Amino acid sequence: MAQDGQDSPAESEVVDLCRELIRIDTSNFGDDSGPGERKAAEYVAGLLDEVGIEARLYESDPGRTSVMARWGGDQGDGLLLHGHLDVVPAEASDWRLDPFSGEVEDGYLWGRGAVDMKDFDAMLLAVVRRRQREGRVPTRPITLCFTADEEAGGHRGAEVLINEHRDEFEGVTDAVGEVGGFSTTVRGRRIYLIEAAEKGMAWMRLTARGRAGHGSMINDDNAVARLSAAVARLGAHQWPIRLTPTMEVLLGTVAELAGTEVTPENARALVEEFGGATRMLGAVISNTVNPTMLSAGYKVNVIPTEAVAHVDARSLPGYEEEFFDTLKELIGDGIDVSYLSNQEPWETPYDGDVVDAMHRSLLAEDPDAIVAPYLMSGGTDAKHFRKLGMRSYGFAPLRLPADLDFTALFHGVDERVPTDALEFGVRVMDRFLDEI
Ligand SMILES: [Zn+2]
Repeated sequence: MAQDGQDSPAESEVVDLCRELIRIDTSNFGDDSGPGERKAAEYVAGLLDEVGIEARLYESDPGRTSVMARWGGDQGDGLLLHGHLDVVPAEASDWRLDPFSGEVEDGYLWGRGAVDMKDFDAMLLAVVRRRQREGRVPTRPITLCFTADEEAGGHRGAEVLINEHRDEFEGVTDAVGEVGGFSTTVRGRRIYLIEAAEKGMAWMRLTARGRAGHGSMINDDNAVARLSAAVARLGAHQWPIRLTPTMEVLLGTVAELAGTEVTPENARALVEEFGGATRMLGAVISNTVNPTMLSAGYKVNVIPTEAVAHVDARSLPGYEEEFFDTLKELIGDGIDVSYLSNQEPWETPYDGDVVDAMHRSLLAEDPDAIVAPYLMSGGTDAKHFRKLGMRSYGFAPLRLPADLDFTALFHGVDERVPTDALEFGVRVMDRFLDEI
């Protein structure tokens, strides 16, 4: 292992580990056509085995491999630290640098997975390896988990683990994974966002059936017309602003900086203080729905029997009833609804020893910063682990430059992470493991 005298071994190792993980292509196309996670899982297991931590590989389908290991002592409740090994695909021709080369340029490590989420995998591995080597093993039982298939819903990863290997999670009460712990800058102050909630996800297929016929004749049962009207209603609907406890805290913090108070009326203006992160945070103060696919017909003068639309709808925790009632009303009669995926939202109370430890460890490394919870627009493996009753948080600490449009890098072109942010993350995670 390289040591350069200045950095700790873990800090200097984290960039190398992240680069090696990026170089192992684990693109997840949503089916089994990708390379799978096996190679990355073996690499991770090897890194753990090397320091005497026994790792177990679980393969759901050929090549779709997750890694689990037990670490730490036996005092107190179990803590799960989890990251996923797969990445979304990358179209190399769109990128300035090869997405799987793991190049470092101008202080940034480039590549698919640099922020989602081989960065956190590498941080965890670097910190765990260092502490294990130095004999600084936490007294609390730690479960380490590196999953397959998160980017396609975790059905070949986290879901299989909780269903078929539940004993691995025995005694675990809290889970820490993505997407949180990164800094945003509001009015010159760094605010670290801890994920404490996720929106629910309803992916729906809407099917209208009507009477087929000639395009020149009267037809009062036109499937295309009925479906289009429903899609237009869904797309145009203005959902009311609803602040969940998590977003009350976050926007209350911003309101304080702005010398005001948070209300549903000024919530949108407060969210806009976040610059680039508004893209995501603007979506978590209301339910949302986006029609995404449409198909019907095969010839201009033939009215088809059937028209189909797909819709991506997302619900706030605590507002599911309003969400589904409104959807039903907007869709209207005469349209069949089926779900491609229907996952509940969740919200963990923002208190307790894990939250305290996240605050203390971040503020020790960045004393002038603010730490606050947020609600994430998408879903992660946390949705599966929550089913075992765990309190979940997203905490992959990164101190980022104010002008970096970080949320655009998730699944984006030219995904990259500052190498000093990775090193910062290692220092914070090391302190976090001291604190819990
Ligand atoms: Zn991710």
